Amino acid sequence: MISAEKARQLLCDFNIIATPALSLDKIFEHYNIIYDEMDYGNKNYMGSLIRAEGRQIILVNTDIKNVGRINFTKAHELGHFSLNHKGEQFECSRTDLMDNTRKPLEIEANQFAKEFLLPEQMVKPISISASFDFDTIKAISNEYMVSKLVAVFRMLDFHSGNYAVIGSKDGLVAHLGISKSLIGKINFLKSGDSIRNNSFAKECMVSDFRMTGYESIDPKTWVTRNKSGSAISLKEYSRADKSSGSALTLLKVSFL
Ligand SMILES: [Zn+2]
Repeated sequence: MISAEKARQLLCDFNIIATPALSLDKIFEHYNIIYDEMDYGNKNYMGSLIRAEGRQIILVNTDIKNVGRINFTKAHELGHFSLNHKGEQFECSRTDLMDNTRKPLEIEANQFAKEFLLPEQMVKPISISASFDFDTIKAISNEYMVSKLVAVFRMLDFHSGNYAVIGSKDGLVAHLGISKSLIGKINFLKSGDSIRNNSFAKECMVSDFRMTGYESIDPKTWVTRNKSGSAISLKEYSRADKSSGSALTLLKVSFL
């Protein structure tokens, strides 16, 4: 994986041993990259890398208010630069920065950003030893200055347990990630599917109900197909942010 190796090389070259996001501006300065924020007038754009007249410019949409998302966008654009992606201008949309994009260069820039902001050697130990819950997500998100979604997806890369993560927006699945152990065995709701009414995620969204741990749930609420050959039980732990209409759901699968 060249993109992750490139990110590790950069971390090594700049002797970065903690919170890589804090070193982004120093790296921009070193490579004479001009960084600025710009009003794109379009919420679908996250950021750009522009090469013009021997100069490099990285722009991030002023519409993004979350520090974690700003950092991911900056690291993604730095990825296009560091990986020497050919082209004068990269205009990166919300979809390009999502985990399920199919464009090869965007996938590479995302892999670079993930490894740069959440290096395996720093994040793997805590991902393995700590509980797969919102306390750990918050700890990683705060320490590495990334969004909770980026933090939990990175935890999935390393965790050996049977977990899935579903991010939803306005009642529809927007993000899905599963741990390696579930690949090819269990299918979950996919992007664009509606969250079921009997889910805790829905309950959290429409009432003041707040979960403090995993609770048993009918597997059919989230699982669309079980190809494992074993019966399963499912536990859900969801948190909702009613103001933005988004929810984050952690699912733990047990094979019976
Ligand atoms: Zn991009």
